[in-house]
Amino acid sequence: MPTLLIVEDDALLLDALTGQLKQLEYDVCTACSVAQATALLQTQAVDGIILDLGLPGADGMELLTWVRGHIAGLPVLILTARDGIDDRVAGLNAGADDYITKPFNMQELQARLQAMLRRARQPAFTQPSSASGGPSTTIGALLLDHASQAATLDGTPLELTQREWELLELLVNRCGEVVTRDDVLAAWRAGPPEPGQSAPPLASNALEVYVHRLRKKLDDTSLTIRNIRGLGYMLEKP
Ligand code: CA
Repeated sequence: MPTLLIVEDDALLLDALTGQLKQLEYDVCTACSVAQATALLQTQAVDGIILDLGLPGADGMELLTWVRGHIAGLPVLILTARDGIDDRVAGLNAGADDYITKPFNMQELQARLQAMLRRARQPAFTQPSSASGGPSTTIGALLLDHASQAATLDGTPLELTQREWELLELLVNRCGEVVTRDDVLAAWRAGPPEPGQSAPPLASNALEVYVHRLRKKLDDTSLTIRNIRGLGYMLEKP
């Protein structure tokens, strides 16, 4: 299941949200401030963020700007008491994917969260899938349909998050060659950095986390992702 980061300084709400989302089988990690969240995002791979704006220290909007500059494609849902139209517009203009005001309905939050994560998995432009003649790659039991960004193992769909897909596609496209850390980070940076910002020092340990996840998903196959010390990773030819 996707991993969500909840950034919220209200301990009661944070507990309640965490409990409910875990019941829905999300993996959940939490932060109470922008500083905590930023530190966490550099070591832990997440698939989406639920972001409060009124936080102690730096405002939640600062985290949103940071995320857009560093992990461009990561979906962010703002969950805040700020219900002014100007606040909503500012949040969406700064790159939030959705905006929900407190008090909120849990079922609506769930539905919007699901929709947001679903959208994040879809390519911006859909092309004909391999079923209708689009490009695809097969290595052993693994088949990648590049147009629909779908992977199957022996015909069974492989559940992948957007970044897992991007990493796997890169490894498959260059099977037998070394894919460097920079190659992966470049593929992950869906958009250019914010104007005036230098190249993002993206999540130093996040890549290892994703490689670990992919290895687990390819566990029962003849496909091996090798660690090439100091260089990067290589998908070995089966
Ligand atoms: Ca708050």
